[in-house]
Amino acid sequence: MIKQFSFLSHKRWLYGVLSLLFSLSIIVGNAQPTRAISWIELLIRGAQIYQLSSISDSQEVQLGKEINQELIKSRKAKIYRNGEITRYVNQIGQRLARTSNRPKIPYTFQVVDDKSVNAFATMGGYVYINTGLMKKAENEAELASVIGHEIGHIVGRHAIKQMRETAIAQGVLSAAGLDSSQAVQIGVELALNRPNSRGDELEADRFGLENIKKSGYAPSGMVSFMKKLLQQGNSTPAFLSTHPATSERIKLLEKNIDSRTANVGKGLDNRAYKNKIRSL
Ligand code: ZN
Repeated sequence: MIKQFSFLSHKRWLYGVLSLLFSLSIIVGNAQPTRAISWIELLIRGAQIYQLSSISDSQEVQLGKEINQELIKSRKAKIYRNGEITRYVNQIGQRLARTSNRPKIPYTFQVVDDKSVNAFATMGGYVYINTGLMKKAENEAELASVIGHEIGHIVGRHAIKQMRETAIAQGVLSAAGLDSSQAVQIGVELALNRPNSRGDELEADRFGLENIKKSGYAPSGMVSFMKKLLQQGNSTPAFLSTHPATSERIKLLEKNIDSRTANVGKGLDNRAYKNKIRSL
């Protein structure tokens, strides 16, 4: 009697577990069938996958490094090899990185051998400044203002957001994430050809100005450089050719600069700057 009872209750218990497992498997199975398949596929292929919506700092730095390698390998960005100039730009950049809102990731500042007045950032701390822009700047405060703006794009994780949007638009973003080779391809394309959105540009300006002030540079450099480029007229450089209009950006920056302290700070010695970059 006792035996039979225990057998029955055991059986009941077993049925319970089985039906629970069965209903669980339906829920799991229905929830994300494509996810399971694509994960397995990707694991078999041994690909590195980036989940862009929750990418970690170290993954972002790794992706920035891979994009950098591709930019150099494909000769889409020709790095200017001059120790003195590179050290100088890196010194300004590292100083600004420390006072930025994202000081904990490593930053890499490189000079691109290109006459056009341009600068860009990818992700994970990678910033590029053209030789043409360095020549156009009149002093260190102006150069620092551009570097500060580019760091602002990295602080705002703008390239990650753009990469995600582009991958969705191209239909290459799976539930598991984005394959590394596709991520690098999109990253290179974004760095060279895609303008940032209006909101991202204004945010980078805001972060940049805040940072310039914090690091002790004269805030006027940010406005004077933009004004100079605006006065140049028709040949607006690529990094300013996007919306919002340069005049609008200048107006917003001026609003956030106290005219009494605009010229207070370092970086306004034009002669010292020309001397620093004389080998360009
Ligand atoms: Zn920008």
